[in-house]
Amino acid sequence: MYKIKDQALIKTCSYIAGNWQSSQTSFDVLNPATGETVAQVSDASVEEATLAVAAANKAFKAWSALPAHERAKLLRNWFNLMMEHQDDLARILTLEQGKPLAEAKGEIAYGAGFIEWFAEEGKRVYGDTIPSLSPNQKVIVTKQAVGVVASITPWNFPNAMITRKAAAALAAGCTFVVRPATQTPLSALAMAELAERAGIPAGVFNVVVGEDAVGIGQVLTTHPDIAKFTFTGSTAVGKILIKQCASTVKKVSMELGGNAPFIVFNDADIDEAVKGAIISKYRNAGQTCVCTNRIFVQKEVLASFTERFAVAVKNLQVGNGIEDDIQIGPMISSTAVDGVIKLVDDSISQGAILHTGGNRHHAGSHFYQPTVLTNVTPDMSVARNEIFGPVSPIISFDSEDEVIAMANNTEYGLAAYFYARDIGRVWRVAQALEYGMIGINESIISNVAAPFGGVKQSGSGREGSKYGLDDYLEIKYLCMGGISQ
Ligand code: NAP
Repeated sequence: MYKIKDQALIKTCSYIAGNWQSSQTSFDVLNPATGETVAQVSDASVEEATLAVAAANKAFKAWSALPAHERAKLLRNWFNLMMEHQDDLARILTLEQGKPLAEAKGEIAYGAGFIEWFAEEGKRVYGDTIPSLSPNQKVIVTKQAVGVVASITPWNFPNAMITRKAAAALAAGCTFVVRPATQTPLSALAMAELAERAGIPAGVFNVVVGEDAVGIGQVLTTHPDIAKFTFTGSTAVGKILIKQCASTVKKVSMELGGNAPFIVFNDADIDEAVKGAIISKYRNAGQTCVCTNRIFVQKEVLASFTERFAVAVKNLQVGNGIEDDIQIGPMISSTAVDGVIKLVDDSISQGAILHTGGNRHHAGSHFYQPTVLTNVTPDMSVARNEIFGPVSPIISFDSEDEVIAMANNTEYGLAAYFYARDIGRVWRVAQALEYGMIGINESIISNVAAPFGGVKQSGSGREGSKYGLDDYLEIKYLCMGGISQ
């Protein structure tokens, strides 16, 4: 299928306890660029989800008891296999998700990178000895794997949103069950195939693919054998899942939505700001949680920024991501396109000015033209909501205080970006922005060594970096008495 060299990577059943588990019914995985069926996948139910939890629970004892060095060797095998099959994995990803092939290859390298990173970090789970208050006691702190981890992941990064969690969990000694988004199960299943080839034991990594998001979600958030639940997706769904996790007081981490400001001050390098805004806005057709959502430009540089930015946006190549030189692929669904059309039309009716784009793209029903709007005000819905599409609303501002207030005036706090050269301003603004991640004269901020995560309603916990293991470890305090003779 579709020039994929290793056809065994195309799996169509859930992977549970080291077995490919078929179900009685199936659903279609569609190519968002063409509407064609890419594969028919067995539709797992609550029953299979429960089996996966049992498998992960059974595997936990042996996996957590392995020395970290042994787990690291298996994770390293998994990383190597993913990089060896980077082209095939990228093709599978583009076919089910739509992003251009070059971006998909980048996602595979980024996703695999977490496996390599945490294979190493797992060897450095240190404890503490703490000076005791009594000569008769020793105070020792150790860290242990939390247990079985369950997760639910979105369609926009079908590979990396899984590895960012699974790699940390497995390195810490946890076992793992993931339910990937219905639109993009094939990437998760291909990863399971490679995990098996890497020698990761049965039950350690399980993938449950099923359309019943709510039913499977209930199992993964309420099952008493699950110690931790981790979710990446919208804030609205995250809130429901947090509530469900309360019934068994699970450890919870959440990577949720964003409303990233991108601020261009009058002392910025405008060409760099234009380049940065293009990357941070239009990557993945605007469907990333850290995508620029609102562009604020200081009045003195508004005209020069807008002119150069609109030209660059107009030149973006839109089309089927599997073809050469495409920069913007389809959106995930026609419903998603309808949502963007509504946001743009509403803004124009309220006074926004259209500079380029503003319509469906002739490439197909899931495509939307890269769009730039000016004269936008912060109260318009395009500035208040996560757009999740290739649309840039530009808002002008006068002063630093004004733009900081506007940038922070949102319930979200994931990523923010600003371009400025004055060192005092750089420090002041970086301190004042209420966000978990700030790009300063930089628009690509995520990498394996850096802590990814948000504040406010963008979530809790951090993924990647040396902090990424913390969510998968419990602190245990040992108080040893009877020391004095
Ligand atoms: P979503 O609607 O919240 O869905 C995410 C996942 O949750 C999907 O697997 C979905 O399954 C499942 N789901 C939906 N409702 C559920 C329920 N009631 N119970 C259990 N599972 C449920 O989000 P999305 O539209 O797919 O993804 C986009 C959102 O994710 C954006 O808000 C984006 O900002 C956020 N995101 C955040 C990060 C981050 O790191 N902070 C990264 C990527 C994306 P189905 O697909 O099968 O319905």
